[in-house]
Amino acid sequence: MRQLYFAPERLCRSRFARPDSLCLDDDRMNKISAVKYEPKIKSWPKEFADKLPLNEAFLSFQGEGRYIGQPALFLRFNYCNLGCSWCDTRFTWDSDLIEEDQLLSVNEITELSTKLLKSHHLEPANVHVVLTGGEPMLHQGRLPALIIQMRELGFNFFEIETNGMYKPSLAMIDSIDWWNCSPKLSNNGLAQSVNVVPDAISSIYATGKADFKFVVDSADDIAEIKEYYLPLIAAESIILMPEGFTRKKQISNMATVNQLALQNGYRFSPRLQILIWGNERKK
Ligand code: SF4
Repeated sequence: MRQLYFAPERLCRSRFARPDSLCLDDDRMNKISAVKYEPKIKSWPKEFADKLPLNEAFLSFQGEGRYIGQPALFLRFNYCNLGCSWCDTRFTWDSDLIEEDQLLSVNEITELSTKLLKSHHLEPANVHVVLTGGEPMLHQGRLPALIIQMRELGFNFFEIETNGMYKPSLAMIDSIDWWNCSPKLSNNGLAQSVNVVPDAISSIYATGKADFKFVVDSADDIAEIKEYYLPLIAAESIILMPEGFTRKKQISNMATVNQLALQNGYRFSPRLQILIWGNERKK
């Protein structure tokens, strides 16, 4: 089992560093010493009233998993409970890097979404809405109201990207059309006892509307999937994706992970947004 991990946040100490400056190419990563990984998670306000901490909204294509290639409106919310070492959205949770969120009401997010679609001459029925983060399930008490309002305007398919650590409410189960659940393995720098919440994974699996995407870089990861997750979910629901938030790292990992998927009866997904854009924002 791996013990030591790189801590990318130590390269970017400035409170005001833009996410673009997070471009940790592999050469830089290889130059720093391995240190014990301790994520610096910004605590979130316990009470947002009825508002949601939106970090950004943008149009792109779903880059991973079952709906890869689907035009999509991404709504990214701040804060995460976990803090993976290789996270490509540290600007949503790292106390050194987090961007001030806009606390927006359901009306404001709906208006913003509609304007974005109009500016691209797109109809709501033709795009998926992808709720992402950070960890959007931190806000599950307020998301159903947003989804109801957006459905009234013609948006008709809602995906959520979650780390699978929060058991969904009945309102969330009713609201979400597809769960892109990405449970974490110890390659994220944290112990598996921290990463796995069996009750939440089982509840998401029981919706019958979920894939489980694992970020993988070696055969060690397959052993962890089998030990911690296969008792909870079926192999057919598993998708492997290569670790790496630089294009170079994605490409170097793809062949290995592709073969691991084939050998173990899992599906495989590239991460198109990284292959095309590296770790550029809003892509
Ligand atoms: S769970 Fe997702 S958003 Fe949170 S730190 Fe890990 S990769 Fe980033």
